[in-house]
Amino acid sequence: MLERGEVANSWRRERWDSLRLLTPNWQSRLPGLRYEGPDPDGYMTMGEVTSFIERFAAVSHAPVRTGTDVTSVRRSGDGYHVATTRGELACRAVVIASGAYNKPSVPPFASAVPGSVEQLTPFDYRDPAKLPDGGVLVVGASATGVQLAAELQRSGRPVTLSVGEHVRMPRTYRGRDVLWWMDTAGVWDQRYDEIEDLTRARRLPSPQLVGTPERATLDLSVLTSMGVELVGRWAAVRDGRALFSGGLRNVFSLADLKMQRLLDTFDEWARTDGRDAEVGPAERFPPTPVPSSTRLQLDLGSGEIRAIVWATGFRPDYGWLDVPALDAKGHLRHEGGAVGSPGLYALGLPVLRRRRSSFMCGIEDDAREVIGHLARYLAVPG
Ligand SMILES: Cc1cc2nc3c(=O)[nH]c(=O)nc-3n(C[C@H](O)[C@H](O)[C@H](O)COP(=O)(O)OP(=O)(O)OC[C@H]3O[C@@H](n4cnc5c(N)ncnc54)[C@H](O)[C@@H]3O)c2cc1C
Repeated sequence: MLERGEVANSWRRERWDSLRLLTPNWQSRLPGLRYEGPDPDGYMTMGEVTSFIERFAAVSHAPVRTGTDVTSVRRSGDGYHVATTRGELACRAVVIASGAYNKPSVPPFASAVPGSVEQLTPFDYRDPAKLPDGGVLVVGASATGVQLAAELQRSGRPVTLSVGEHVRMPRTYRGRDVLWWMDTAGVWDQRYDEIEDLTRARRLPSPQLVGTPERATLDLSVLTSMGVELVGRWAAVRDGRALFSGGLRNVFSLADLKMQRLLDTFDEWARTDGRDAEVGPAERFPPTPVPSSTRLQLDLGSGEIRAIVWATGFRPDYGWLDVPALDAKGHLRHEGGAVGSPGLYALGLPVLRRRRSSFMCGIEDDAREVIGHLARYLAVPG
């Protein structure tokens, strides 16, 4: 196992200070290792996640070579030639487990933002003190965007949040964590080959969730009540002005509708599975309030906005992969983890083999199946 940094590198280096997992502790499971602490319904801090993964590396005796950056993987004979910063390797099979979130995605028009406005990605951000005083424009309203918008607003900076398509979720529903419902009702068991629009499922934004000791919901209604100003999707920069799409009402009602459908699925499951007595009564949440007027543009040179935080998603980095296996958008083409090159496999990608694959707890089933395929491949002499 080759790792360019240390064990749990992404959790150590690429996350902000206040972040906690949005998945509850009982769900933090790796093959043969479960959370056994006193707070199964809590959410791990970054320090706790790092320790958990370090413990897994130790108990599983994972043969990790840290500080080893893979700079090239190419086909060679009936296997692969792997170049690293610590020498070269020849092997018959390669499993790509380099993660789906190696680089923040930032739209190209970021280069047209005036130089007087500081720009950060979630990889640069650690805490509000990293930003200048004054207004902040947070772009993107998925898990990262809503969490950073709330933290920055609490720090006393006026926050404007640019909102596009998003996934609204209450933290708890009928007294249980919403992810308990996803898990128990089988939503996450849905397999990749049963999903109608797999490309879309793999690109779906993360849900608006935060892990806090209070198990608080953090959606657009909460942010509005905190004083965060909502604007539409950022479409372009023209003459130093940020131009936002209108139609927030439609964006909100779509997210409300999808949440409603999800809650209906949970209710239906609780009824048919005889669980109604185990959980609280069905709940319905008010629609996201639409602001009476929304700004369609913002003068970035006026001094109102001092910093922009791009919470516009992450993408993988396969700059080192010299095998033609990427699609036009730079994503790995694979069939449930089998990449279309003999002996080349992937793990740890969103909806790789089932919806659960997007989360840490998805690895157990995925690894068993992908490694089964790999073992059968290796069993045939090359
Ligand atoms: C902000 C954020 C919050 C998240 N919150 C949750 C959550 O609450 N719960 C949850 O279950 N999941 C969460 N996830 C998803 C979670 O990150 C993934 O499920 C998990 O990290 C996948 O593990 P991985 O080992 O496949 O990938 P990663 O954790 O990304 O690890 C990939 C490793 O590969 C190394 N690497 C990359 N390229 C090379 C190279 N060329 N050579 C050598 N080494 C290389 C990296 O250094 C890294 O250590 C979150 C993701 C993000 C971005």
